[in-house]
Amino acid sequence: MIVNLLPEKCIACGLCQVLAPDLFDYTDDGIVIFTEAPAQHQLTISEALKAQAMAAYKQCPTRAIVIPKP
Ligand code: SF4
Repeated sequence: MIVNLLPEKCIACGLCQVLAPDLFDYTDDGIVIFTEAPAQHQLTISEALKAQAMAAYKQCPTRAIVIPKP
């Protein structure tokens, strides 16, 4: 599964790390990044992280997390 981040839409609410603690981290300003690839805005994630990613995708208030339809 591919996950895209749109940091310009992120309002630093912190919800995605609660929902997907193994996937997301934040910059010093609280803007979302991928924990394992902070410089990337797109990441292919493992099966094990899909449920976390979907939860964050569905609940991010600004749609800063995008999962393209397969
Ligand atoms: S849930 Fe969305 S707006 Fe909130 S920190 Fe995560 S990416 Fe940013």
